[in-house]
Amino acid sequence: MGDSLAPSVTPLLHQTGVWEAFLASRPLPSAGNRAAWGSRWLGEHAFLREPWGTGWHLDRVAFDQQLRRAAERAGVRLLRGSVSSLGGGPGGWVVATDAGTLQAEFVVDATGRRAALARQLGARRRVLDHQIALVAFLHPIDAPIEDTTTLVEAVPDGWWYSALLPDGRLSLAFFTDPERARGARSAGGWSAAMAATDHTADRLKPYNVTSRPRTVSAGSSLLTPSGGRGWLAVGDAAATYDPLSSHGVGTALAEGRRAGELVCQLLAGDCSALGVELDRRMASYAAYLTRRLAYYRAELRWPDSPFWARRHVLPRSGS
Ligand SMILES: Cc1cc2nc3c(=O)[nH]c(=O)nc-3n(C[C@H](O)[C@H](O)[C@H](O)COP(=O)(O)OP(=O)(O)OC[C@H]3O[C@@H](n4cnc5c(N)ncnc54)[C@H](O)[C@@H]3O)c2cc1C
Repeated sequence: MGDSLAPSVTPLLHQTGVWEAFLASRPLPSAGNRAAWGSRWLGEHAFLREPWGTGWHLDRVAFDQQLRRAAERAGVRLLRGSVSSLGGGPGGWVVATDAGTLQAEFVVDATGRRAALARQLGARRRVLDHQIALVAFLHPIDAPIEDTTTLVEAVPDGWWYSALLPDGRLSLAFFTDPERARGARSAGGWSAAMAATDHTADRLKPYNVTSRPRTVSAGSSLLTPSGGRGWLAVGDAAATYDPLSSHGVGTALAEGRRAGELVCQLLAGDCSALGVELDRRMASYAAYLTRRLAYYRAELRWPDSPFWARRHVLPRSGS
C-alpha cells in the first residue's frame, strides 16, 4: 500500500537500532496531514511543529528488505520461504518450511492477517469491523508532483486516502463497507466514486486515473488468544487497526521488539512475562477502539449512512 508513518515512529526506529536501515530504504519525508473530516473544509496538521519533525511515506518492499539486512547484520540466520506447518509443542516446536525443517523452543508468528501459525494452534480472529479498501496506484501524466501531504476526505459511504509514494506514484484508497465496494469496483463505479469527491478529485487532476482498484481487507480485528505457551503473534497477525489510525507499522515494530525481550525473559525462566504482555495488549486494544470511536464520531454529516452509523458505536463482538 505504501504505508505512511507518523513522526512519533521515529524514536522507535532509533531505539530498535534500524534508523540507518530505514533511511537506506529511501522513505519520502511527509510534510503533514490534510483532512476534510467533520466538515467539507480542509484542516491541516503540519508536522513541522512535531518534536520529531517530518512523517514518512514508505516504499514497503525496500523497507522490509532493509530490515531483513539489518537483522542479518545483527546475527540472525535468514531462511527464505514459506512456513507450511507447525508440529511438536511448547519447548520443542517442529516448523516445516520450504527451506527445510526447523526446531525451536519458541515461535513468533509475524505472518500478517493470515496468522498462519497461530491458527494452527487454535487461535481465532475476531473481526470487529468488515471495512475494505479499494486501492490504486496512479502515475502522474506529466512532471512529478511534489505535494507530500497525506489527504483524507470523508464522504457519505466511507473515506478517501491519498499520499505520494517515494517512486512518484500516488497511492489512492477508498475505505468503505463490502456491500458499497461492489458498485465502486466496476470501471464506471470507480470513476463516479472519484468524481463525487471534492479535495481528492482536485488532487487527482494531474494523474492518470484509468487503473482499476484492487480490494484489500482494512478492518479492525483481534486474534484470540494472541499468544500462549511457547508462542506469540505480533503485528497484524496479533491485531489489525483501522488505517485511519496509522497504527499498523509502528505497532508491528514495537511488538516485534517486545517479542524479542519477552523470549529472553521466558527462556530465563520468568513465566509471568507472557501473561503481562497479553494483558497489556488487551488494555491497549481497548484504548485504540475508544480513540477510533472518537475519530468517527467527529464526522456527523451523514446520520443515515450505514457506514458512519456502524462506526458511531463501539464494536461489541466479532465473527
Ligand atoms: C489499505 C491499507 C492501508 C494501510 N495504511 C497504513 C499506513 O498508512 N500506516 C501504517 O502504519 N499502517 C498502515 N496499514 C497497516 C499496515 O500495512 C500493517 O499493519 C502492517 O503491514 C503489518 O505488518 P506485519 O509485518 O505485521 O504484516 P504484513 O506486512 O502483512 O507481513 C506479513 C508477512 O508474512 C508473510 N507470510 C504470510 N504467511 C506466511 C507463511 N506461511 N510463511 C512465511 N511467511 C508468511 C507475508 O508474505 C508477509 O511478508 C494499512 C493497511 C491497509 C490494508
